[in-house]
Amino acid sequence: MKTVLVTGGNGGIGSAICRDMAENGYSVVAAYYSDEKEQARAWQRSLQEQGVDVEIVGGDVTDYESAKGMVDEAVMKVGPIDVLVNCAGITRDATFRKMVPDQWNEVINTNLDSVYNVTHQVINGMLERGFGRIINIASVNGQKGQFGQTNYSAAKAGLHGFTMALAQETARKGITVNTVSPGYISTPMTQAMPVEVLDAIVGSVPVGRMGEPEEIAHTVLWLASEKSAYVTGANIPINGGLFMAA
Ligand code: NDP
Repeated sequence: MKTVLVTGGNGGIGSAICRDMAENGYSVVAAYYSDEKEQARAWQRSLQEQGVDVEIVGGDVTDYESAKGMVDEAVMKVGPIDVLVNCAGITRDATFRKMVPDQWNEVINTNLDSVYNVTHQVINGMLERGFGRIINIASVNGQKGQFGQTNYSAAKAGLHGFTMALAQETARKGITVNTVSPGYISTPMTQAMPVEVLDAIVGSVPVGRMGEPEEIAHTVLWLASEKSAYVTGANIPINGGLFMAA
């Protein structure tokens, strides 16, 4: 049975990924933010009640040692990690003029530094075993930029730079590295946005609605497959047509 570790695993998109992968025969570990242990346990129990088994591990992806502890614990629970989904992320929106250093640093640390911190723990094992799937959840706003999100847009664009570079370093070793760039998806992250801002954005989405977390999970599952071995270094948009590029 293949194993998968999903950071931000109990978040909106992460939950859908964990569920889909568990239902498709993966041994799943959801990494939750270490401060949220009780919440993560309750989330795990509710999945169990629905017949979906997922292991949980706590950690702070912004901290290298914490990420190491988190991955070590995941390996103890399910064995070496075959598929890593880097999904933990936050927003701290402000126009650039008003953005304070904490808003910049927290977003870069959580959305970009985290990917070094976590991926570095699994890459050697994947290279030794000659198989791996690394899937980085970026954003449409890393592709097109977004007013009030210089920090987030920079982190997510940087994430895809990481994807393309690591894809080249690992391509001959059975490892693929890809980015998935969602548009606006119904999760706690977007529920926290002002309604009028969200309505205006959704009004400009050609498909005419927000995306569902399951629509992201579907692509992650496809990328994780052994049959997707020839897809690497890609940035796959799932945005209802909000941003199209040649
Ligand atoms: P959620 O807020 O629901 O999930 C984010 C997850 O990341 C939470 O589980 C959160 O834990 C976790 N997390 C945050 N900080 C840390 C940390 N320091 N260490 C470990 N875990 C942490 O958001 P979504 O599910 O919507 O977002 C998931 C990913 O998708 C993010 O990377 C986001 O940027 C991206 N995305 C989302 C879009 C959307 O429209 N929703 C659009 C495009 C991209 P906790 O809740 O305990 O803080």
